[in-house]
Amino acid sequence: MVSEETLEVPDHLSAAQADFSRAVAFIDGTFVPLSEARIPVRDFGLMYADMTYDVVHTWRGGFFRLEDHLDRFEASCAGLRLAPGLPRNALAALLAELVDRSGLADTLVYFACTRGQAPPGSRDPRTAANRFFAYAQPLVLRGQPDEMRRGLDATISRDIRRIPANSVNPVWKNTHWGDFTRALFLAKDAGFDTTILLDQEGNVAEGPGFNVVAVTREGLLAAEAGVLEGISCRTMMEIAADLGIAGRYGTLAPEILAAADEAFITSTSCGLFPLTRLDGAPIGSGRPGPVTTRLLNTYYRRKNEGWRITPVASLLPNTSRRAS
Ligand code: PLP
Repeated sequence: MVSEETLEVPDHLSAAQADFSRAVAFIDGTFVPLSEARIPVRDFGLMYADMTYDVVHTWRGGFFRLEDHLDRFEASCAGLRLAPGLPRNALAALLAELVDRSGLADTLVYFACTRGQAPPGSRDPRTAANRFFAYAQPLVLRGQPDEMRRGLDATISRDIRRIPANSVNPVWKNTHWGDFTRALFLAKDAGFDTTILLDQEGNVAEGPGFNVVAVTREGLLAAEAGVLEGISCRTMMEIAADLGIAGRYGTLAPEILAAADEAFITSTSCGLFPLTRLDGAPIGSGRPGPVTTRLLNTYYRRKNEGWRITPVASLLPNTSRRAS
């Protein structure tokens, strides 16, 4: 039996409370305030979405699952033939320095490698000099804290399907968001909070920046293919296993999601976010359910205890600690 708990919503992670003036970027070898970071207009990342990126977060001054994010970034770079030009330990130290310079404890750290610019007249991606950049900004929930208590109402996008995986491999984190953005416009226009895209076979794929998890009588179920392998989804699967709740990756038909006892989305920006309605109809009770609540509360409790946390200070070279 799952005991009843109250959802412990991290109210301090609201955009209204965040100080974005502290956000710091690293680009072309220099640290600058994020508001001053610029990309040349002829960078192929901008022109052709020819880039990859990853987003890790810090919690109370420590990176959460940094190694997993670095693994995924390296795999994305290798798959897309991008070379950020930074060995892994230098990359980790650089991300730590960004957080340190921001002076923030709870941050989102975005890091990217674009194809960069090719010599004038060349369209050959092999001739481009790849560009690495990164920034640290305050961590804010992907929705407002009060939305977390009520949960999201998502619509399933029936007309716009997720880009086929054999065209753009979703496992390599990318910015080919044309499908998401079109579907999001339709969802917002129709009054929904967000959209969920189906794959070419009509099964649930993912949404703009998140994976989708159904909680059924058999436990958690998340899409196993045609999606980014979300680190937050893996985290919830691991926490569930520790709590004795089954979880698996498989085929998630939209009907299973609609008929689930509970559902949530997962993303680095929130861990999980309750999904309480689908196309306006309640999922289960239409409120964040007991499994969702337990997973989220355990997630925060564990992070507070340092679970899978790498202190930012442990990655900083002694000389580069913030002077101010
Ligand atoms: N799916 C897509 C398309 C995403 O962009 C993201 C995150 O940005 C996710 C899923 C969730 O991944 P993670 O939990 O690693 O943040």
